[in-house]
Amino acid sequence: MFDKRRLGRVRLDPDLSGLGPDAEGMEPAEFRDRLLRGTSAVKARLLDQSVLAGVGNLLADETLWQARISPKAPVRDLTRTDLDRLHRNLDRALERAIANGGVHTGEVIEHRHPGGHCPRCGTEMVHGTVGGRSTWWCPQEQV
Ligand SMILES: [Zn+2]
Repeated sequence: MFDKRRLGRVRLDPDLSGLGPDAEGMEPAEFRDRLLRGTSAVKARLLDQSVLAGVGNLLADETLWQARISPKAPVRDLTRTDLDRLHRNLDRALERAIANGGVHTGEVIEHRHPGGHCPRCGTEMVHGTVGGRSTWWCPQEQV
């Protein structure tokens, strides 16, 4: 698929040539393959711009919450079913962010604060650092 945006980015800044392919529009097999080239926590793999480009901190938290996957899970502990569910949820989260005006509109984003509760099950959200970034997740559903 021809991607004008990516072409433009690489042309404008040669330092970005180490970027992975855009998360948007990636095939499931390529998504699984690229994530599984490393061993770190799944959130760290999602944020690594050499794995796939375009996933920031909020989008990663939203996607992992939607997919009910722990951000701290080593990527190689995830099953193919988990990775495919993660991929589908990333696509949906990207589509919704574009339609609604940004990743801050994600369902779980406004609950990422001390005392915030999971909008799905009501459990208090927990906080930690994963992949060097501030991370919030539901300890009940993202295990
Ligand atoms: Zn929950």
